[in-house]
Amino acid sequence: MLSEQEARDRIVRAVSPRPERTVLLLESVGCFSARNVVARVPLPTFDNSAMDGYAVVASSSRKRARLKVIGEQPAGIDRQLLIAHDQAVRIFTGAPIPAGANAVVMQEETMREGDAVVLKVDVDPGDFIRRRGCDLAEGQKILGRGERIRPVTIALLASQGFADVTIGGQVNVAIVSTGDEIVMPGTRLDQGQIYDSNLTLLQALVRQSGACVISAEHCPDQRERLIEAIQRGMKSHILVVTGGVSVGEHDLVQATLRSLEAKIDVWRVAIKPGKPFLFGQAGGCVAFGLPGNPVSAFVTFLQFVRPAILKMMGANDLDLPKTQVRLTVDLANDGDRTHYMRGRIDKGTFMPIGRQESHALFGLSQSNALLRVAVGEELKAGATVDVQTWD
Ligand code: AMP
Ligand code: MG
Repeated sequence: MLSEQEARDRIVRAVSPRPERTVLLLESVGCFSARNVVARVPLPTFDNSAMDGYAVVASSSRKRARLKVIGEQPAGIDRQLLIAHDQAVRIFTGAPIPAGANAVVMQEETMREGDAVVLKVDVDPGDFIRRRGCDLAEGQKILGRGERIRPVTIALLASQGFADVTIGGQVNVAIVSTGDEIVMPGTRLDQGQIYDSNLTLLQALVRQSGACVISAEHCPDQRERLIEAIQRGMKSHILVVTGGVSVGEHDLVQATLRSLEAKIDVWRVAIKPGKPFLFGQAGGCVAFGLPGNPVSAFVTFLQFVRPAILKMMGANDLDLPKTQVRLTVDLANDGDRTHYMRGRIDKGTFMPIGRQESHALFGLSQSNALLRVAVGEELKAGATVDVQTWD
């Protein structure tokens, strides 16, 4: 039985980043930048007004001052107005500050009287002016290579005039669920049968990691059918098979992969849940065999499949997000496998939730964090621990 760390290292070593591509900004969300990007336009791009009001010279703008309005500057093309003492320019939010002005008075703090404006407040230099470059300077780093692109990232890229972005390669994943007892949701359930929940779970997890689900199919425990399904799946970059990975007479996945000349690099890992896990390579495809039990499929996907997908997509950080929390109960691992306990984070605390068994899908569905408890580790209530999150 391999250690969890050794299994993960072998998997990550076996996969390489896919060729990068340039896509429209909107297509890049959830992907990883293939470049370091620096700002080419400062933000704000020019000194501009934060309010609708009047641009003024602060030194001639005391309470009750009467200023002559010499023009109007809306947002848009700079009208190149110039103001002197005792003058004002009617100005609007986002409009460039006229030369000579060094403050803006809010409209609500003025009274308009014909071609003059009377101030109701004292004005200080800089009031309601958004200075060029105060948010972001030209040349400042705005995106790192391998960083995940989020909606706010593409907003920032757009503010720089970029219409597209170069990202890591697309990763295509084929998913096959196996088992004679499995039927598709939406159909009738006979005695002894169960609905396929893993196919749905794994498709969602693949999408959430940013890869593309190319196909998702169910296959009964029949050698010929499984050979065909696996051959189809091996045309993708990644094949994920769930169920049939163990050692029973009906567990055909490993033998089928071997018969198709797959090299099995990882088989059985010291992880709970998830021991009957396999990883192999065949042609240009990497294949994962996940246990059929839903919680095992979930945990092994996050610990082993997700890092492979992320590396192939060009990500820097292959780990799940971590949060520091306070344990509410004593926990110990006296077994011989690393235990991933399902639990809930609530107001900075973590509490195990549901049955900690590999079939217990309801408990899993109520959890929002995984606590890794190493072999021999003892944790006391009140201890501060890091938990992994995925939502
Ligand atoms: P296996 O790994 O094929 O021995 O399956 C282990 C357990 O997981 C069995 O109880 C199966 O019925 C269950 N199982 C296998 N595949 C699925 C699936 N796609 N959806 C839900 N449960 C499954
Ligand atoms: Mg099975």
